[in-house]
Amino acid sequence: MTRQRHVGRTEWLVAGAGFSGATLAERLATQLGARVLVVDRRPHLAGNAFDEIDSTGVRVHRYGAHIFHTKSEQVWRYLSHFSEWYPYVHRVLASLDGQLVPVPCNLTTLAHLLGLAQAAELERLSTRYFPDQRKITVLSLVNHHHPLLRAAGREVYEKIFLQYTLKQWGYRPEELDRSVTARVPVLISRDDRYFSDPYQGIPKDGYTALVERLLDNPLISVELGCDYRSLGNHLRDLPTIYTGPIDEFFGYVYGHLPYRSLRFQNYSYGVNRLLPVAVVNHPNAPGYTRVIEHAHFLDQHVGATTVTYEFPEPYEPSANEPYYPVPKQENHHRYQMYANLASSLAGRVFFVGRLAEYRYYDMDQAVAHALAVFNHQITPQSTRRSVGQPARHERRLATLAT
Ligand SMILES: Cc1cc2nc3c(=O)[nH]c(=O)nc-3n(C[C@H](O)[C@H](O)[C@H](O)COP(=O)(O)OP(=O)(O)OC[C@H]3O[C@@H](n4cnc5c(N)ncnc54)[C@H](O)[C@@H]3O)c2cc1C
Repeated sequence: MTRQRHVGRTEWLVAGAGFSGATLAERLATQLGARVLVVDRRPHLAGNAFDEIDSTGVRVHRYGAHIFHTKSEQVWRYLSHFSEWYPYVHRVLASLDGQLVPVPCNLTTLAHLLGLAQAAELERLSTRYFPDQRKITVLSLVNHHHPLLRAAGREVYEKIFLQYTLKQWGYRPEELDRSVTARVPVLISRDDRYFSDPYQGIPKDGYTALVERLLDNPLISVELGCDYRSLGNHLRDLPTIYTGPIDEFFGYVYGHLPYRSLRFQNYSYGVNRLLPVAVVNHPNAPGYTRVIEHAHFLDQHVGATTVTYEFPEPYEPSANEPYYPVPKQENHHRYQMYANLASSLAGRVFFVGRLAEYRYYDMDQAVAHALAVFNHQITPQSTRRSVGQPARHERRLATLAT
């Protein structure tokens, strides 16, 4: 999808056509009447949420399973202008000792790990020690003074969490931010939904179509396969929404921000279904962390199915894609140095989204944040402001870096 560029008349530049960039482009065009050029260096819209129908007829999420879920009525209503939703509810199983058990860990999972009698005792103890809580964390179990709760915590930690984390991040949990372990939930119920958010679903025509509709405005032109860095100064000096990597924007003057990447291996088969749910985790399998069966998302029955194996690997610029910021303190410090540089361009270049803010956003959070940036930071004056500095600023930094 490439529309005619309105050379000379463009008022805003948006680098990146993922959820962050597309939401801001839509707001700028519809609310401020601004002429916007959106560029993305990949050959498609929707960033990591990109999906397409593959040769078997199944809609495939190219960059890993994407499930929309949110607590925000505002975000749900906003996106519902651009898509209808298939009422998909996400359920995940983990393959443990040859059996499939629910994750996040719930009472069914505990019965498998500990045996029925111990699981029943654990349920009794958790109502005593965690009254009125349906969800506790694995850490609160591991650190508990009661030996059975502690033993249950260790079992969950080692069988479900430890190996998976080692593969996912390439680090032991204690080497990562404490928040990674602190978040691992244990459900004191038989609820096997992966998300408990009130709004959940998959766009009926896919994420790519949703983003295409966000950008479907005569004031918005889109150029795919176009890198921000290849643009001339007359465009880069415009007021800009930048959703690419912040370290790249500043010529890596403080070094690279590390990411975890993924390698995807797809296989298709001539049957409707192979797996009971869309995602099966394999905490203890060699190399891969999970297997995704895409036909579940829109409940497709096309006589064929495609499954994707996900292999985490280190990110290497220009070799693979940066997916997850690595949650380590030293990386946040490095990001902060870049954020300080970015503040010198405040009001002219807006660094928004997963790569520009070096933080993991779910799609709903990316949209909520983009809407907040538009509502609180961008004014009609921002459009008229002559920027005239970012490109020069980048050139100076590039000189410093060499
Ligand atoms: C494997 C995986 C699974 C996920 N699963 C879920 C899920 O189940 N549910 C959920 O809510 N969220 C999920 N997410 C998160 C979701 O993908 C993000 O919320 C969303 O991508 C954030 O959008 P964004 O626009 O900030 O970033 P992105 O989608 O990364 O978009 C940024 C865009 O900028 C482009 N770009 C970068 N640099 C340049 C440049 N120099 N010039 C031009 N273009 C550039 C990139 O090509 C990219 O298209 C998942 C993410 C990953 C990686």
